[in-house]
Amino acid sequence: MHTPLMPIPGHTDPVPVSRPGLVDGVTPREDGRVDLMGLPKKRIAELFEEAGLDAKAAKLRAKQVFHWLYHRGVTEFEPMTDIAKTMRPWLTERFVIGRPEIVEAQVSTDGTRKWLLRTADKHDFEMVFIPDADRGTLCVSSQVGCTLNCRFCHTGTMRLVRNLTPGEIVGQVMLARDALGEWPKGANDTRTGTMAGLDFDEETEEAASAYTSDGRLLTNIVMMGMGEPLYNFDNVRDALKLVMDGEGLALSKRRITLSTSGVVPMMARAGEEIGVNLAVSLHAVNKDVRDEIVPINRKYGLEELLQACADYPGASNARRITFEYVMLKDKNDSDADARELVRLIKQYKLPAKVNLIPFNPWDGAAYECSTPDRIKRFAEIVFAAGISAPVRTPRGRDIDAACGQLKTAAEKKSRAELDRLAEEKLAALG
Ligand code: SAH
Ligand code: SF4
Repeated sequence: MHTPLMPIPGHTDPVPVSRPGLVDGVTPREDGRVDLMGLPKKRIAELFEEAGLDAKAAKLRAKQVFHWLYHRGVTEFEPMTDIAKTMRPWLTERFVIGRPEIVEAQVSTDGTRKWLLRTADKHDFEMVFIPDADRGTLCVSSQVGCTLNCRFCHTGTMRLVRNLTPGEIVGQVMLARDALGEWPKGANDTRTGTMAGLDFDEETEEAASAYTSDGRLLTNIVMMGMGEPLYNFDNVRDALKLVMDGEGLALSKRRITLSTSGVVPMMARAGEEIGVNLAVSLHAVNKDVRDEIVPINRKYGLEELLQACADYPGASNARRITFEYVMLKDKNDSDADARELVRLIKQYKLPAKVNLIPFNPWDGAAYECSTPDRIKRFAEIVFAAGISAPVRTPRGRDIDAACGQLKTAAEKKSRAELDRLAEEKLAALG
């Protein structure tokens, strides 16, 4: 059955509300079985107890299952060799280990990979993997669409939004590891549908025991796919906790970055409760321009935003806040803009670095990318003030894979439709 999508709320704060079927952060399923992906170990133990195990057995089984899920990457109960053979069908009847469905997987000539994924209730969203010499970064989505409407962002033109569950968020990381073949060899022999064409076949104990975080392709995660992560705070937090959990995916918080367009009231909690690196989509240095291109600025202005950055728990010279700045021709790219950016960073004493992002155009967008010379000059001004200001090289252009530029199967809209949608979303911002 096709679950109806939640419309954008009208004249209210545009925080998506949870819908029936999304209780407890459990990923909804038609067959009534409970998807364990994305649930904390304690919740898994409770579910096992509710299903009839005594408390002690439930706790032990939860610990074992959790290990198989996140350390071995299994998607079925049958390979869980330390769980009694008779118990495995019992688990299979009641529970599943879900992954988002893969609709399409593409590989760019530069090695960037993009996946179009689908939730169990048939909403499409995207994920991108960007390999570099010294790291591999997975760009993860937090929502289907986005309730905000940054005027240069394609995701903002999607009308329909629902929050992704913790299972759908952590499930993206699991899928990427599946595709990259990053589980201990032999753990995946029952899995079907991996796309990497990588070799999982030899089942050797040495391979399993050699399982460490060294030599992995996927080393970093950025919450820079579709959606505004701080408008789906609880689910993003719960998912990232599993990603960071030493008994879960065990990725260091230093290798995870959450990007926000500036949901000021949630920033302190993000620092305290998640503790990952912060990136802020600044994109403009004065009210008029930022109001236009990042409309949440009308609700939480630049001063508030920069103060929240100055107060961000855990930010230091060793852990800088990244300011993302999309380069839009004749909009935000003058020398004066660059100097004002430097002034603001100094005024608020921010441990900052600036990421200059060449605008990635899409059909119907109202902006153009700044010229290479302009970008270079802008970068020089910021850099001369002692602030690191790399220009982010576009990746995966041939497959439209740039983060924040995630094209979906969403139908193309006319300019007039885009404007109408923008007005609607602005009204919702109040
Ligand atoms: N909603 C969050 C995270 C997702 S967007 C946020 O806005 O921060 C990730 C980054 O990609 C943001 O900095 C966003 O502004 C940028 N982005 C979006 N569309 C883009 C485009 N067409 N070209 C270049 N960068 C874009
Ligand atoms: Fe949403 Fe971020 Fe795109 Fe703005 S830039 S519309 S907040 S996804």
